Amino acid sequence: MKNLKLSGLNGDRHQRTIVTVGNVRIGESFIVIAGPCSVESEAQMMETAWRVKEAGANMLRGGAFKPRTSPYSFQGLGIKGLRILEKARKETGLPVVTEVTDPRDVSWVCEYADMLQIGTRNMQNFSLLQEVGKAGKPVLLKRGMYSTLAEWLNCAEYILAEGNPNVVLCERGIRTFETYTRNTLDLSIVPSVKEVSHLPIIVDPSHATGRLSVIEPMSLAAMAAGADGILIEVHCNPSEALCDKDQAMSPAMFAGLMKKLATLRTSIQHIYQHADTGALEHAA
Ligand code: PEP
Ligand code: MN
Repeated sequence: MKNLKLSGLNGDRHQRTIVTVGNVRIGESFIVIAGPCSVESEAQMMETAWRVKEAGANMLRGGAFKPRTSPYSFQGLGIKGLRILEKARKETGLPVVTEVTDPRDVSWVCEYADMLQIGTRNMQNFSLLQEVGKAGKPVLLKRGMYSTLAEWLNCAEYILAEGNPNVVLCERGIRTFETYTRNTLDLSIVPSVKEVSHLPIIVDPSHATGRLSVIEPMSLAAMAAGADGILIEVHCNPSEALCDKDQAMSPAMFAGLMKKLATLRTSIQHIYQHADTGALEHAA
């Protein structure tokens, strides 16, 4: 692949980047990010945060700015949501990732978040990419729903070129002719990324499938495919979720998934050893 000056492997297959977010090292061993689609209230966020922490999640997620298909759907709590996320992080100790949708918001969202998420609809928003590149915070770059691997890595390149080496890729499903699932999870992108890039890659089976019954098997498959982690939407009371309720796991379901992941991990541990020699570390 041409012109991947900073995201490409440049001939060394063992070169891997580790992105540090608080006390979490993404790219070293399998990590799990969990939390609601959107921050709805302090009670909802705190309850969900404690439940995912108890189940063993490494990081917390929650949207304060929601890029919704309809302008009439719940758009997120904005600054109020960020303050709730800050409280959840302080109390649980879990680092927080949250989406930023506007270049003008980047500098102040950084005051609340440990990691900035660029959503699928904004993957090619180049001014936003440059802004999060300048901010220097770790970035979770979701794959555009219509994007090729080359287009995606070029977007990572925009962030890296601003001097921010802390980029984690996230496969979240692409649009195909299939409609049974919300999107089509392209798991083949995981080993493909590893073949051409040193950047860590995690998988989001929640948005990729949009179906509770499919999220668990795809999470296990993501681990088996060599992903560096997964992102799962969990809500303390899924039937009441304001956003993406059909794909929200209950805390009990999430705890069951975590147990299965732990079992799978012990049986495949010897296959993927990320803490290879040659890992690149960048101070966050
Ligand atoms: C999200 O993770 O909250 C989200 C909106 O995801 P995506 O951008 O992948 O649709
Ligand atoms: Mn969602």
